[in-house]
Amino acid sequence: DERVERIKNKITAYPDFPKPGILFRDIFSVLQTPLVFHDLMAVLEEKVKSVCPDVDIIMGLDSRGFLFGAPLALSLNKPFVPVRKRGKLPGELKQVSYTLEYGTDVFEAQASSIKQGQKVVIVDDLLATGGSMKAASELVKEMGGVVALCLVCIELADLKGRDKLKDPCFPFMSDLNVE
Ligand code: IMP
Repeated sequence: DERVERIKNKITAYPDFPKPGILFRDIFSVLQTPLVFHDLMAVLEEKVKSVCPDVDIIMGLDSRGFLFGAPLALSLNKPFVPVRKRGKLPGELKQVSYTLEYGTDVFEAQASSIKQGQKVVIVDDLLATGGSMKAASELVKEMGGVVALCLVCIELADLKGRDKLKDPCFPFMSDLNVE
């Protein structure tokens, strides 16, 4: 797919960011070229339409999941629901805690944002260990929703994050160059 090649070419890799030993993939650079941002949104939209045409909710993960989740929801004419780190959302909330490399973190969503049985697509930029996506998926299920698709752009395949997920997940970039 030519579009995927154009997207891949825009993703910059930064060695030793934010810590020594980490190769950070920067997807913000895709947004600086409207043509390629369009490509990315078109690829994501096609994926949702083919895997779960009857999706009810698009959920974006704090914070880069918002960049793609919100425009995706708009083009599919579906509600967008944010999942945020603890303390950022007002009102009655549902929470899930999850393990990080050092310590734990908490994801929150507004309690009324998902109704029983609704089909949810969870969007994030990148799947590393899979911990964030797994936590978000648990949160959706606790709220009574059904996870139709875990939608990520980039997968760091060596970390085998996908093995952690019980729900469908089809990253379209898992063989990025490192230079
Ligand atoms: P995981 O929970 O280990 O799968 O990490 C995924 C989360 O960390 C996502 O929300 C990503 O945005 C973020 N993340 C981890 N590594 C990178 C990276 O190299 N570039 C951008 N985001 C990253």
